[in-house]
Amino acid sequence: MSNAFIESSFAEPDLPFETPLRPQTLSDFVGQDTVRQRLEIVITAAKERNEALGHCLFSGPPGLGKTTLSHIIAKAMGTQLVITSGPAIEKPGDLAGLLTNLKKGDILFIDEIHRLSKVAEEYLYSAMEDFSLDLMIDSGPNARSVQVKLHPFTLVGATTRVGLLTAPMRSRFLIALRLDYYEPPVLQKILNRSSKLLAISLSDEALLEIAKRSRGTPRVANNLLRWVRDFAQAQKTKQIDLFLVQQALKLLAIDELGLDEMDKKILTLMIDHHNGGPVGLNNLAAGIGEEPHTIEEVYEPFLIMQGFIKRTPRGREATSLAYRYMKRPEQQT
Ligand code: ADP
Repeated sequence: MSNAFIESSFAEPDLPFETPLRPQTLSDFVGQDTVRQRLEIVITAAKERNEALGHCLFSGPPGLGKTTLSHIIAKAMGTQLVITSGPAIEKPGDLAGLLTNLKKGDILFIDEIHRLSKVAEEYLYSAMEDFSLDLMIDSGPNARSVQVKLHPFTLVGATTRVGLLTAPMRSRFLIALRLDYYEPPVLQKILNRSSKLLAISLSDEALLEIAKRSRGTPRVANNLLRWVRDFAQAQKTKQIDLFLVQQALKLLAIDELGLDEMDKKILTLMIDHHNGGPVGLNNLAAGIGEEPHTIEEVYEPFLIMQGFIKRTPRGREATSLAYRYMKRPEQQT
């Protein structure tokens, strides 16, 4: 298994860009208090016993800190982190290559673990449970299986769709932790920390305004902060206040709730072209020219959380709140 394989995985699409802002320790990781407390307990206990940490599963929408937590765990345990993703593991051989290279206590991070193939998943079961692998050698009449012992390792799985994980897979994790969208005051703290790291100065009101428009997501918050920094630089100002943030975000077409052009396109399509729905996911995707899984994993959870869309067995429906927000006359039923 080459390093290129590991590094080319899209578990870390924004690594070079975001690294400086990534918290390195649990105490730097802001918010998600329950998740932090539970991790603190299992990490301390495993270290005291000098054992590998039990397998951990993180779920929640993109950009909430799943990858960051896996870095933090590896650092706290003093072990190596190997990153890959479900779709990058095509055959059991790929997985065998990764697993046999792990040393005691190393962390194997599998992003999008719900997209692991069935065979790879079944391979993982014995690796996770007994730290052993049954490898098939040769083919045809000479085919035989040999058992390979692995060093005790920790699997950290991340998924945006925990419901798609099979029950046997889920049951093999010591803890399953769900990350939720962050409230604006918590995002404000994250932005405050980021602004110091980026050496820029913003008023409290300015930070809170960015926080409110960040879709409850630290990755979005940090990206907006960088945009505001560039905008301020273009305006040749060093003091970033509320008015400047409002101007900067207006230029990006991000409204007070954090909805962007794509969210508006989705709601417009549902309301104006499908009479509020129900609309099937593929129909929606074709209508706005986006991948169905991006709609399902990135846009939709936020629109559902805001109360603009609801999922029904027949498809997605726009709520009356969406009609009001988009300034459309309410649907007559
Ligand atoms: P995910 O793996 O869930 O998609 P990441 O762990 O890559 O999300 O997080 C995206 C970025 O958001 C990180 O680079 C980090 O800078 C920031 N971030 C996420 N969670 C936090 C947090 N709780 N505190 C501070 N920064 C955070």
